[in-house]
Amino acid sequence: MAIALDTPVQYVKGVGPTRAGQLAELGVHTVEDLLTYFPRRFDLRRQVQPIGVLRGTEETATVAGEVLDVREQVYRRPPSFQCNLNDGTGSVLVKWFHGLYLRDKIKVGMQIAVSGRVSLYREQVQFLNPSFQVIWDPQATNLDQDELLPVYPAGGGLASGVIAQVIRRVLPDVIDLVDEWFDADFLRRRELMGRREAIAAMHKPEDRQQWAGARRRLAYEECLLMQVGVALLRMREISRPAHPLALSDEIDRRIRARFPFELTGAQDQAVREIAADMARPRPMNRLLQGDVGSGKTVVALYAALLAVAHRKQAAIMAPTEILAQQHYQKVCAYLAGSRVRVALLTGSQKPAQRQAALSSLAGGETDLVVGTHALLSQGVRFSQLGLVVVDEQHKFGVRQRSGIRGKGFAPHYLVMTATPIPRTLALTVFGDLDVSTIASLPPGRGKTTTRIVPQQQMPMVLARVKQELKRGQQAYFIYPLVRESPELELTAAQEAYEELRRSELAAWGVGLIHGQLPAAEKETVMRAFGEGRLGVLAASSVVEVGLDMPKASVIVVLHAERFGLAQLHQLRGRVGRSSEDALCVLVSSTDNPLARRRLEVMAGTSDGFKIAEEDLRIRGPGEFFGTRQHGLPELRLADLVEDYDLLRMARRDAMEIVQGDPGLNAPHNQHLREQVIKAYAGRLELLGGA
Ligand code: ADP
Ligand code: MG
Repeated sequence: MAIALDTPVQYVKGVGPTRAGQLAELGVHTVEDLLTYFPRRFDLRRQVQPIGVLRGTEETATVAGEVLDVREQVYRRPPSFQCNLNDGTGSVLVKWFHGLYLRDKIKVGMQIAVSGRVSLYREQVQFLNPSFQVIWDPQATNLDQDELLPVYPAGGGLASGVIAQVIRRVLPDVIDLVDEWFDADFLRRRELMGRREAIAAMHKPEDRQQWAGARRRLAYEECLLMQVGVALLRMREISRPAHPLALSDEIDRRIRARFPFELTGAQDQAVREIAADMARPRPMNRLLQGDVGSGKTVVALYAALLAVAHRKQAAIMAPTEILAQQHYQKVCAYLAGSRVRVALLTGSQKPAQRQAALSSLAGGETDLVVGTHALLSQGVRFSQLGLVVVDEQHKFGVRQRSGIRGKGFAPHYLVMTATPIPRTLALTVFGDLDVSTIASLPPGRGKTTTRIVPQQQMPMVLARVKQELKRGQQAYFIYPLVRESPELELTAAQEAYEELRRSELAAWGVGLIHGQLPAAEKETVMRAFGEGRLGVLAASSVVEVGLDMPKASVIVVLHAERFGLAQLHQLRGRVGRSSEDALCVLVSSTDNPLARRRLEVMAGTSDGFKIAEEDLRIRGPGEFFGTRQHGLPELRLADLVEDYDLLRMARRDAMEIVQGDPGLNAPHNQHLREQVIKAYAGRLELLGGA
């Protein structure tokens, strides 16, 4: 039968059913899968040494020669397979324990290279369990040069070397099946290698440079596919009609009059971008990012008031009850004396309260609603929803993103995040959104210092906290959430709380807050802290991102190594929210190097974007979001930290392609269309129909 890219590997010459079964375990089912099963890295094959110079005292060595004899020791424990190898300068014994499977692979008269540990056994030099490679054509294989040895991800009972052999054998027969996706001019302008050449070079590059070019070409493809998906998603979102809500000087003046301060330049810029979006008859789809305390909430409120000025409703959603409460109180304070009707909607409200809030929303008697995810639930109806603001996106998870948007006229949509999003992720996971960034803090903020302190120094930490309390400041003590066991978490925070209450700090009042506390109690404690009746707040990590307590000048994070970077950054942002200098103490005695690195990153910079990129680097994108469910195809070659330029190029190209041909129906887009369908299997609605 004629081999095609979708032919099962089993029908490829040299791959039988057994091997095909093993390959299937690696996810390799078809010829195309095999072609795109790329080496994880390349090792420089070490210089091949003449066998005659080996002393047996070398750590490791690589030799190549002819197999003189082979011997199986079937009845020994463990059974082994061995051979003598001769290269004209001498012979060496090579032995593999449990190596009986090699009897079909290593035969007398073959040329093989072996590489591994060398030892002396009864005064004879020997290799024990080395890696080996059959040299098909001794003439063509110049082992003296620094050859790049592919290392494939092993598995399914297949070692890297075996996979390499299969691919090397199959490659010449099938490489011509590989199609080009783009025309020559497109490639030339982007300095991209041809597809066939790239795939061949991924397996067998001439040098590192050629490999880098091949990777770049194929990584570009991945980026482009992802960006086409993102562009289609975006098209779908913005193709719906929305109410244009233009800003006038009069409205601008009235809104600004509500704030007791001037907006910063960065806030002004964000407001301009948002207002320009909202003036269009297409829904705004914008991400507002800014470090903790940079003043996003004010910008969001500006947008909300712009909607309200047009007699539309605005909804602001927070990730937690406490934050919703806090937003609500702030909003009420800013709007005191105005005609804007504000309501609160949360999951813990009494049915009657909730019912009242719901019916005033549906009846149009509420202009601005602040709430939790409760706003996403069934049964919430708006009469004229014009704007949705989602605060602290990360807590929601990206999947819920479209939840509130519904059908018909689309509300304008603004997402706020205080966890700065690395620029590559802004182009991918959040790629269907436009981005506004508030890069600077409001004026007159103090400086926050970060210290890493071992557990034993807690007494000193307490003494320092006491000084702050004496000056009338407040302090947070944060305990990690023990995810496996809510009870344990409770005990930890509870015990720590008892301890604080027995300490000298008790004089200033100590409150405790954790995930299991009923909402009403949480509220009581938060209020006491907010009004300064408590000096110290002990909290499990539920202590909500976004809390704004200007008098808090110290945050002590216990077992800091258990927190992720993004979380630590958020926590640190709880202090330094006034003109006072602040202190963040990370208590940890860990010697785990990765954990230490995280803490040192924290101590070394307060730049949220740097921290986010480092976080992404350490954890990888899946972990970064705490979920793999962001709906985008996996990137195998492109690197979400390093490939920013490539992504940007792909994004520009994808937008252009999709704008010109939204259904990807043009003949020259057929390859792309096929690949998009494959990559976004199950989300075909992106291409209309299906
Ligand atoms: P974010 O939501 O980005 O964390 P907020 O909007 O809660 O930040 O603002 C943090 C603090 O800074 C609030 O107390 C707010 O009143 C104050 N603030 C915001 N904008 C300004 C400004 N332009 N000038 C002075 N203070 C501001
Ligand atoms: Mg905020």
